[in-house]
Amino acid sequence: MRVRVSDVRKWAGREERATLVEPWPDSLRERLDTIYIGQPAAVNVLVRNVSTGLVVEVSGQAHLGLACARCLESADVTVHFAESQEFREEVTSKDEDLAYECFSGDHIILDALIGDAVALQIPLAPLCSPVCRGLCPQCGANLNHTSCACQQSADSRWEALKAWKPESSKE
Ligand SMILES: [Zn+2]
Ligand SMILES: [Zn+2]
Repeated sequence: MRVRVSDVRKWAGREERATLVEPWPDSLRERLDTIYIGQPAAVNVLVRNVSTGLVVEVSGQAHLGLACARCLESADVTVHFAESQEFREEVTSKDEDLAYECFSGDHIILDALIGDAVALQIPLAPLCSPVCRGLCPQCGANLNHTSCACQQSADSRWEALKAWKPESSKE
């Protein structure tokens, strides 16, 4: 995804808005390891000429299917993102410690910025449902859909654990 900056780059103080409605960058899907991404993306872009360079703000929301942390099936997650980054016209001598990115020409490529913005909002342990029962640790059956033969023995082991109360128990 990219934004045209041929006009805004000419005058300090100028700003331009755009809404990019197009498919998400392919790199995003790989980076986030999603099961699906709701298409198309609708990303709001604000470009401000701050005289040293162009500050680009991207914002929007993404509807993602992420692997549920308990059962691995799709957890539907909506993330709201907003990030900004300064871009300067490419210079020959590159500073080691750049607080800005470089661009040249009439467009700025936004894939990395949008990818960062969305990635920052991804929950650490997405759940398909707050009451997801997860997978049976013995046979791997999805306990949201089925009860497996292991249940009975798991229950009796649990009874034993309750009486025993190990000190290292997390609960
Ligand atoms: Zn789940
Ligand atoms: Zn089982």
